[in-house]
Amino acid sequence: MKENKDCFNNDSKSDDVARISKSGVRPTAVRLLIYRFMKTMTSPVSSIDIEAGLETVDRSTISRTLAAFLDHDIIHSIDDGSGLLKYEVCRGADDHSIHDMHVHFRCKSCGRTICLPATSIPQVILPPGFISENINYVISGLCDLCSVKNVNP
Ligand SMILES: [Zn+2]
Ligand SMILES: [Zn+2]
Repeated sequence: MKENKDCFNNDSKSDDVARISKSGVRPTAVRLLIYRFMKTMTSPVSSIDIEAGLETVDRSTISRTLAAFLDHDIIHSIDDGSGLLKYEVCRGADDHSIHDMHVHFRCKSCGRTICLPATSIPQVILPPGFISENINYVISGLCDLCSVKNVNP
């Protein structure tokens, strides 16, 4: 019996399978590929970024997969005002709730959308009968790198 089959990275791979199937989505090879691609990204990505990064996967598969992931709280979407929705893998707690959502920052100079995981979204009091499911909290301005460049004494 050989023991050298796919030993490297095997643990994190099975973690990903577990994470996806736990959410109620069947972890097909292509879904796993998209999930893993998104997980390696340090900032939210658009479907075009995914398409560019995964040339073997066609556009309709990507949009169907994103829809399934969104439906099952595996990822969340961010409308950063760029006209293109960005997506990001929900990190942290398994039980995804609006409470673990964080503020995103859109830099008008470099165009990046940056996660600010340490900056949580402030609680908003809604009138009785309103149930919130999603909060989009995007602050725009200059990021830490661009604000330094913009200060010309
Ligand atoms: Zn910037
Ligand atoms: Zn984020």
